Amino acid sequence: MLLLNVPYEEKDEAKALGARWNADIKKWYVFSEKDYHKFDKWIARKKHNTIICDRIYVIVGMMKCFRCHKQTPVVGIGIDQFFSIEDERSGKRNYSFNNEDIHICPTFPELPVELLDYLSKNYGVRTDYSKTVQASYIANHCSNCSTIQGNFFIFDEVDSPFFITNSETVKDLTVLKYKLPYDIACTPSIRYSSTDDMIKKYADIKQLTL
Ligand SMILES: [Zn+2]
Repeated sequence: MLLLNVPYEEKDEAKALGARWNADIKKWYVFSEKDYHKFDKWIARKKHNTIICDRIYVIVGMMKCFRCHKQTPVVGIGIDQFFSIEDERSGKRNYSFNNEDIHICPTFPELPVELLDYLSKNYGVRTDYSKTVQASYIANHCSNCSTIQGNFFIFDEVDSPFFITNSETVKDLTVLKYKLPYDIACTPSIRYSSTDDMIKKYADIKQLTL
């Protein structure tokens, strides 16, 4: 299920294409993944290139805070089922569905409120304003000194807990599978690594229910 941003004037058009109305949250939505491509112009205000479907993975690793040098948990989001959307030369948008290994996203997509709450209480993940990029974004913070932990530092340094080289590095991670209340249209950066298949193979994946 995916929520749509349908302006009032366009509601008849959306309805004719099969959109349904949710009176509780007062939003139009599309139920079946197979129909998402028909609703492209209402899926997000900013142009999205990905729709994360059904579930995401909360992947927790431990690393040393660069400021206080104590160990802190850091979180990366993993995705395995998603649409990739490409602009074609004709101006059409092509939706292709992927069902793959778990790939880690070094930036957080927009997350359901319940999940962000959980990550904030348990792992110091919360929204911050960055002067450098002049935008709000979701970031990891040290559990000891609250200092923001930059994405480059967490995901791209050689000693990153998310650098998977063998089964042991996977076993050091906590992997939680979270069923999404609705699918997420976003533009995440997805990191493809040749060892992504090891996550499903070796991780003890637990269900996260909130
Ligand atoms: Zn610290």
